[in-house]
Amino acid sequence: ALSWEELTAAIKWDAQGLVPAIVQDAASKDVLMLAYVNEESLKLTLESGETWFWSRSRSELWHKGATSGHKQKVRSLKYDCDGDTLLIQVDQTGPACHTGQYSCFYNNVPLQGQSAAAAADASPNDRFAMLSRLESVIAQRDAERPEGAYTTYLFEKGIDKILKKVGEETAEVIIAAKNRDNDELRYESSDLIFHLMVLLREAKLPLDDVMRELDRRHNSKK
Ligand code: AMP
Ligand code: ZN
Ligand code: ZN
Ligand code: ZN
Repeated sequence: ALSWEELTAAIKWDAQGLVPAIVQDAASKDVLMLAYVNEESLKLTLESGETWFWSRSRSELWHKGATSGHKQKVRSLKYDCDGDTLLIQVDQTGPACHTGQYSCFYNNVPLQGQSAAAAADASPNDRFAMLSRLESVIAQRDAERPEGAYTTYLFEKGIDKILKKVGEETAEVIIAAKNRDNDELRYESSDLIFHLMVLLREAKLPLDDVMRELDRRHNSKK
């Protein structure tokens, strides 16, 4: 095993004793943020299993999520070939960015000849993160039950109503596919996924457990 002395010697700390850390969503692989780590925050990260950084603007140790609650559970920690960058894969709770965005990297710079819309549409991986964002919204609706929201209505009606909707949407997916109508299929598949996610929330089964199951099957076939 790599000792603490070997690890800290392998890392190229800059003049301020810092090294940049890229934080990546372990599930979606989206890059969430970049922050700086010093020796003490690295130690705290390894000991606690949650990310700790050095805030350059506040000149203090920073436990990510300490005030927002949006903590990051560390899944893996790596350093690169020349030891000047860390890569931390995490299970992200809520948005990683203090602006409320899921990832800090939400400012799209259009490439030459690219429209703003095309630039915004050019990172397909973000679309998978949509599922965990949807999961958060559904969980929030369940907890807060805002009046007039369709999701609130489903939770108030309860499991039988939710199951009925999953059944109906499944039938609509089948009809759309039979009709060879991909516009309809896209629409009905979205309905089905949404209602399935409401059902998972009702059953208290995290989407991540489903993703892990898919991942296990995929990896066992390799
Ligand atoms: P948090 O660590 O999420 O509890 O947020 C505490 C403070 O850290 C915020 O008020 C921000 O100033 C800062 N902060 C949180 N997340 C980020 C981020 N992804 N990038 C830069 N600053 C952040
Ligand atoms: Zn490097
Ligand atoms: Zn940010
Ligand atoms: Zn439908």
